[in-house]
Amino acid sequence: MSIEQVSKSSVLIAGAGIGGLAMALSLLRRGIDCDVLEQASELREVGAGLWISMNGVRVLRDLGLTEQVEQNCIAAERRSIRLWNTGDRWPLYNRSSDAARNQPYLLLRAHLLKILVDGVRQLKPGAIHLNAHVVGFSQNGEGVRAKLADSSEVEGRALIGADGAHSKVRLGLIGKIESQYTKTIAWRGLVPVDRLAPHQREPEVATWIGPTAHVTAYPVRWQNTVMMTFSGQVDHDDWLLESWSESGSVEECLKDFEGWHPDIVDLVKNVDTLNKWGLFVRPSLASWSKGRVTLLGDACHSMLPYLGQGVNMALEDASVLARCLDENPNDVAAVFEAYQSLRLDRTSKVVKSAAGMLPIFHNKALCKPETAGDYIKTQWSSEATSARYDWIYRYDATTIPLHSADEHNWSGQ
Ligand SMILES: Cc1cc2nc3c(=O)[nH]c(=O)nc-3n(C[C@H](O)[C@H](O)[C@H](O)COP(=O)(O)OP(=O)(O)OC[C@H]3O[C@@H](n4cnc5c(N)ncnc54)[C@H](O)[C@@H]3O)c2cc1C
Repeated sequence: MSIEQVSKSSVLIAGAGIGGLAMALSLLRRGIDCDVLEQASELREVGAGLWISMNGVRVLRDLGLTEQVEQNCIAAERRSIRLWNTGDRWPLYNRSSDAARNQPYLLLRAHLLKILVDGVRQLKPGAIHLNAHVVGFSQNGEGVRAKLADSSEVEGRALIGADGAHSKVRLGLIGKIESQYTKTIAWRGLVPVDRLAPHQREPEVATWIGPTAHVTAYPVRWQNTVMMTFSGQVDHDDWLLESWSESGSVEECLKDFEGWHPDIVDLVKNVDTLNKWGLFVRPSLASWSKGRVTLLGDACHSMLPYLGQGVNMALEDASVLARCLDENPNDVAAVFEAYQSLRLDRTSKVVKSAAGMLPIFHNKALCKPETAGDYIKTQWSSEATSARYDWIYRYDATTIPLHSADEHNWSGQ
């Protein structure tokens, strides 16, 4: 279906990232027509792993994707904290002892994107429009017009900006918001496991923590093999572009991990794809809906990656918003207000908590093994870990009540 044939009663979604596609699939499964406008000329993802925690897993299950997603996942046997230089290990949990609480899906971003694209196209083959770069919009009581970079316009009954951290829909809705460099950069890479020693191939999620950097590494399935995915955050005064796809050099990355355990050095030396990016923050928004236009995912609450919650929050948004629209399909403006009030507190709190993790991961106490042990035992005790993560993982976007917002604590605590 060409973009000229989009029905005026369609819900327009700007952005075919994981948030926009989850939104489209949630709507189409409810029989609500929608179209996705994506700026790129093809749908592709940079190589990186993704951690979908229980709150996101519930949404994917509700979308009917359990089988497809699980086929592409590796079940981690345990999660551990490791010390940057000695490699000493503190187990956080293992699959058999605490299986019910923590069973994240670990998979490649590209796999989840493809599963969502296939799901959307199965229900509406022409729903995703490529080369459709939204640059602005107008709206009235009847509907919206999304303006595209080629000067064409697409009419629909509502517009959802799922167009990421640099959202043009947000710009039109709220105006320019300055982002601030956090003096931290991130590396991420994929390493074929056959290049690693047997002890480095174990199905473990390991977070290595040090005084000025931390690394999370876990295995993901890739075609018929397994890759180790890692993301390493490093304190850095240098300013970098806020982009996820800058390529970086192995030499540069090794410099950032000087003095680290040989297992980390090996990961970097054997990497197949390596990207780096600067980590930025934006002030939380007080609102993100106006009339027939709203936002979801990174467009309204981009966050630092320290809790692994960006995609999970986008999935939750999509689920709650689709449920709200399903319940009251005729009053879009009221639905968008209701959706915002259901999501604002929780997402703001997750954004804040993610930022608060930096001094916990990067801490001077980790310089020396003598002080590191006590620090890790305190900061990563089962009580501290539960207090930090349980309220995030417990939330169920597919069942939370949509009414009486004032009577509940929507942050999930
Ligand atoms: C290294 C790293 C690791 C991460 N790991 C995790 C993790 O393990 N778990 C987790 O939950 N989160 C993780 N995140 C965060 C997560 O990737 C983001 O929060 C998530 O991708 C946001 O999804 P989104 O759909 O809102 O936006 P995006 O993924 O940014 O998608 C936006 C889409 O909109 C398109 N677009 C942009 N502008 C326009 C426009 N004007 N018109 C039309 N289309 C447009 C883009 O091309 C893109 O397709 C990680 C992030 C990073 C950087």
